[in-house]
Amino acid sequence: MEFRKDENKMKDVIIVGSGPAGMGAALYGRRAGLDTLILDATGMPGGQITTTYEVDNYLGLPGINGFDMAMAFQEHVKKFGAQWEPGKVSEIEKQDNYFVVKTGEKEYQGKTVILAAGASHNKLGVPGEEELTGMGVSYCATCDGAFYRGKTTVVVGGGDVAIEDAIFLARFCEKVYLVHRRDSLRGAKILQDRLFELPNVEVIWDSVVERIEGTEAVEQIHLLNKKSGEKRVLSAQGIFIAVGIHPNTENFQNLVEMDEAGYIIAGEMGETSVPGVYVAGDTRTKELRQVITAVADGANAITSVQKYLLENK
Ligand code: NDP
Repeated sequence: MEFRKDENKMKDVIIVGSGPAGMGAALYGRRAGLDTLILDATGMPGGQITTTYEVDNYLGLPGINGFDMAMAFQEHVKKFGAQWEPGKVSEIEKQDNYFVVKTGEKEYQGKTVILAAGASHNKLGVPGEEELTGMGVSYCATCDGAFYRGKTTVVVGGGDVAIEDAIFLARFCEKVYLVHRRDSLRGAKILQDRLFELPNVEVIWDSVVERIEGTEAVEQIHLLNKKSGEKRVLSAQGIFIAVGIHPNTENFQNLVEMDEAGYIIAGEMGETSVPGVYVAGDTRTKELRQVITAVADGANAITSVQKYLLENK
């Protein structure tokens, strides 16, 4: 299909994703006077923080609720007049000196693109997980936790999210089991200290979930201790799976270079293998995936965009 370049529709920068990285980029883009469009796949700006009960490590905002933080970010960006459109990007095509960004229904044209599509929850891939999703199997404790007041729940994973979920659930569940496949947690020490103080949380080490059972809702979680070979069955009404994330980059595979896990290869300034395409936030190769580093990535990516636009007038 032939694309006609339309200077009237041409954006300086199209930002794919409206999490902290995308919103950080949009703020810096507008402050730099760039014609900036954000494409928002979910209709809920904020990305993963919208489902985070408490963000305790963003400078100056100790303990802020993730949803409130997302709203504050959005308000700040909108004040500077970035254009927002709903739409999940299905494809990006490089033309001579611009890009065509396609969603299901629409096409947009941009001189540059920032990929800030974030990441999604991993699944365990065990029997019962898919069948009982929404009926006791959840990937978001802050969204669904309140349904389990006075009940027993299981959290799976050993990272920051799993620990935060267990701490959150312990406030209203009678009992919370944290099931981890190794004998030490990888989450932040400060979170671990808080977790180990809670009387109604039991950590089950070296164990994996083999299957989840229940007729109409979750009833039993079958575990296997990988060291001893011992099996154990937990009676629980809910299971919260927090076993990491994967980048939402499947639709950009033909555009930019990625590592084996699907993260877009880029350094601090967000420069990808394609001039004019930049990446920010959880979708890029990096050590630390946090709100504070995502926002910084957005600012850096805009700096790269400005440099590119100056050099490619
Ligand atoms: P992580 O990748 O940090 O942890 C995933 C955990 O799940 C690990 O403990 C891992 O085990 C375990 N795991 C992975 N696959 C399986 C499996 N198939 N079966 C059983 N266990 C499994 O992911 P998180 O979701 O916790 O965090 C994602 C990112 O978000 C991190 O970078 C984190 O720091 C960040 N984050 C930031 C926050 C903030 O800024 N405040 C808050 C929350 C998260 P193992 O340890 O053996 O690898």
